[in-house]
Amino acid sequence: MHKAGIKTMLVDDEAYMLKLLAHQLGRLGFAALTTHTSGAAALQAFATPHGPPDLILLDLNMPQMDGIEFVRHLVDHGYAGSLILISGEDERMLQSASTLVRAHKISLLGHLQKPVPNEALAALLDTWAPRPARPARAVTVVHGADDLRGAIANGELVNYYQPKVALSDGRVVGVESLVRWRHPVHGLVFPDQFIELAEAHGLIDDLTRVVLRSALAQSRAWSDAGLKLRVAVNVSMDNLATLEFADFVAEKAARAGVEAGAIVLEVTESRLMNDLRAPLEVLTRLRLKRFGLSIDDFGTGNSSLTQLRNFPFDELKIDQSFVHGAVTDATRRAIFSGSLHLARELKMQVVAEGVEDRADWDFLRQSECDTAQGYFIARPMPADQLPQWLDDWGRRLPALLGHWSAAGR
Ligand code: C2E
Ligand code: MG
Ligand code: MG
Repeated sequence: MHKAGIKTMLVDDEAYMLKLLAHQLGRLGFAALTTHTSGAAALQAFATPHGPPDLILLDLNMPQMDGIEFVRHLVDHGYAGSLILISGEDERMLQSASTLVRAHKISLLGHLQKPVPNEALAALLDTWAPRPARPARAVTVVHGADDLRGAIANGELVNYYQPKVALSDGRVVGVESLVRWRHPVHGLVFPDQFIELAEAHGLIDDLTRVVLRSALAQSRAWSDAGLKLRVAVNVSMDNLATLEFADFVAEKAARAGVEAGAIVLEVTESRLMNDLRAPLEVLTRLRLKRFGLSIDDFGTGNSSLTQLRNFPFDELKIDQSFVHGAVTDATRRAIFSGSLHLARELKMQVVAEGVEDRADWDFLRQSECDTAQGYFIARPMPADQLPQWLDDWGRRLPALLGHWSAAGR
């Protein structure tokens, strides 16, 4: 669609801001503009023959209906267009408002601080185009516990592996096993669709057993092929509720001919544990046997300082929500470096998750973080694709190490 035809609505209680913004948008080619000095007036315009706009620029601070409340009304109206938030508030306030808008599943192009710089506005709108029509809702298939039980028994669960690389020199130090369900009808199903289901229906022990068995066999195969990779496996807190788990893991590893030090168990607390005795015993014994223990998603509600105090973790994975975009976001950066220093004090290895682009990578390279993992480096892949990826990575690496390697990190 040509910019001139995009229905754009400006909502701000300050008339001169409306004028200014309208002028800025006009220069960018937006001609179908309406301006409103209150949320109520803007919502009334939804009911006119013009209908709802394609794009709304919304001020957060307005005397009667504030921007947050306005967003709630947008949700009630089933607003399908896009939104840009504008405010004189500080960055963190805008961040929270943005998080809220996204939680409401409204398409948010970004947020801008007043007075709005021309270049920032142009950058937000540069690549944006209105959605043609409301896309048909993707069918979400709800999987039942019996299906999952069958899948576990029939070998439909497969491990994908995502590399972890050393930030100092790009060396591949390990991989994380991430389970997928190869569903005969629905194709590849991701763990967020069935891990909770497994936990809720007492299937998580069976699931972990299958994942661990493949991961151990794979670890052995790589090691036989001369590849030294630490293999990480995600375990659920529910797995740690049975005291036998430590012996089970030790025995399976021994039988597969894999050293404890070559295996890492990643733990997140999916729900609050009332009784710490079993997980404490299991994790402490696993650590005594020299298995690696990693606290996953660190910094999120599920993974906290209390866990860090209680359990003998030797690796900390900083959650992706504090890694991706940390360069430009002061709050994320602060949480990232706080976590990093905490881990350093506790003599733990640190992995940054969610490295999605070059900016994330460069940021991490000049940090003290040990290891990186994320789509920028590699997506999770079946084991047989790893050799090809290793070749590709070797070719990409020189350009990614740049002058830092010369500085002898
Ligand atoms: P996790 O352990 O924190 O794993 C990282 C997740 O982030 C994976 O999602 C991975 O594909 C994704 N990821 C990796 N790099 C990036 C990136 O650059 N950007 C973004 N946005 N995401 C990235 P996945 O495979 O869908 O797994 C989701 C979660 O499911 C895992 O989070 C883990 O908690 C759980 N999970 C996976 N496999 C197992 C398993 O075998 N057992 C148990 N109990 N949980 C598992
Ligand atoms: Mg993990
Ligand atoms: Mg994680």
